[in-house]
Amino acid sequence: MSEFKLLIDGKERAGNEGVWEDVFDPATGQAFGRVTHAGKQDLDDAMNIAVRGLAEWSAVPTWERGTILHRSAAILRERKETLGLAMTREQGKPLREAIAEVDRSADFMEWGAEQARRITGDVLTGRDLANRIVIETHPIGVVAAFTPWNFPMALAAKKFAGALGAGCSIICKPSQETPGSVLGLVQALLDAGVHPAAVGVVFGAPADVSSHMINASQISKITFTGSIPVGKMLAAEAGKVMKPVTMELGGHAPVIVCKDMDPEATADFLVTKKFTNAGQICLSPTRFFVESEVHDRFVERFVARAAKIRVGAGTAEESQMGPLASVRRVQAISDLVEDARAKGATIATGGQHMGNSGYFYAPTVLTDIPPEARILHEEPFGPVAAILRFDDEAEMVHQANSLEFGLSAYLFTNDAARQRRLADAMKVGTVGVNDVPTHLPEVPLGGWKESGYGTEGGQQILTPYQKTKFVSYR
Ligand code: NAD
Repeated sequence: MSEFKLLIDGKERAGNEGVWEDVFDPATGQAFGRVTHAGKQDLDDAMNIAVRGLAEWSAVPTWERGTILHRSAAILRERKETLGLAMTREQGKPLREAIAEVDRSADFMEWGAEQARRITGDVLTGRDLANRIVIETHPIGVVAAFTPWNFPMALAAKKFAGALGAGCSIICKPSQETPGSVLGLVQALLDAGVHPAAVGVVFGAPADVSSHMINASQISKITFTGSIPVGKMLAAEAGKVMKPVTMELGGHAPVIVCKDMDPEATADFLVTKKFTNAGQICLSPTRFFVESEVHDRFVERFVARAAKIRVGAGTAEESQMGPLASVRRVQAISDLVEDARAKGATIATGGQHMGNSGYFYAPTVLTDIPPEARILHEEPFGPVAAILRFDDEAEMVHQANSLEFGLSAYLFTNDAARQRRLADAMKVGTVGVNDVPTHLPEVPLGGWKESGYGTEGGQQILTPYQKTKFVSYR
């Protein structure tokens, strides 16, 4: 049995209140370890130490910070097989996807390292020549990061890369379901030379930990990746104590397939994208709007390919899709599919739990979906594709934009005017044109509408973790 402990000041410790919870292997449904809960005293210790960590780490010259973060990337790459295996065990994804995620986490560290070395300020002449104004960039302070279970390392790595690159200290509360991935990431940072007081990992009941930390005077910045309802709660709580937040929240991405596309080739491409990570991706394509002329051929091919996906344990070489991450997610997906079925949708393939053990759910395709079905309004966050037919472009665009989500949208057409028109029309932060992009460190990802607040990555990866000061010299 594995034990996942708090990591404070470079040392592991069990929570001071003696509370633990089991950690399950999604492929078997069996507990393979347990994770400790931080007591209030542990959280206070972690935050007090992070205040010291801020003073120490922000004093490291930016060039050296960059060197250390680059080294952490190299260490992650050296350990990617072991870290990938540990991730698959707690999250369920196929091993090659887990290893790719460790590589992506290293990419984020390299990007943070490079941007750290580019921190600059501005100098202005004042309104008269005796006056010089210097605009300086400072680390914002101690960061509290709340990270999810779907990409348990990469989504934390973005936050560590930005915060540490900017010179902040950071305490992360990962999802209880996937405690090992962030611990592995932070161990690599420590081994690379990040000051132990600058990085902490705590676990516990999410609402207790987040509330305690958001309200603590030691914390200056909140960053969260997760669902819209939880994001709203955290942002509201942070607002009461005037603390800035970055929120990367859910999506319900429209995919528009136009009549000029080869429906079979487009379906082949989109099946792979849809069922990656068992659909548990905020950018996952979910609402497919297919133009009538190609609808039936697209559906036929998409369903045939989805039905052939090999579902199995992430550690089995032949598995193309692993289990869902938790039993809670199986229930959530099953509820959405049953609701659609009860309201008259056709289950073209899938629509059921698979196997006698583990959290497997069949790749599922729904068609003939009535507008009132919950799946058309609520983010599925699982292996379910909802396929709709369209004739009228303006009406389809209205529907595609009608939800509170605004994270991403995907367009499939080679008609240049239509590409431009549809890309302009989508009220989202990420558009793929004949593409379903993943999040790369070099591009900023952020949601429009209720999908989020602020961006992560891109040239501005450090910005959420910085504050400015202008100094006027006379
Ligand atoms: P959930 O709303 O229960 O939890 C979402 C995440 O927030 C989890 O990681 C959880 O540990 C954390 N969390 C929950 N309550 C919290 C609190 N009070 N304080 C701090 N953290 C808290 O949903 P779920 O069933 O775990 O996941 C499904 C939903 O989460 C999906 O609908 C999806 O929108 C969202 N999600 C989004 C992303 C993303 O990449 N944007 C990642 C994971 C989950």
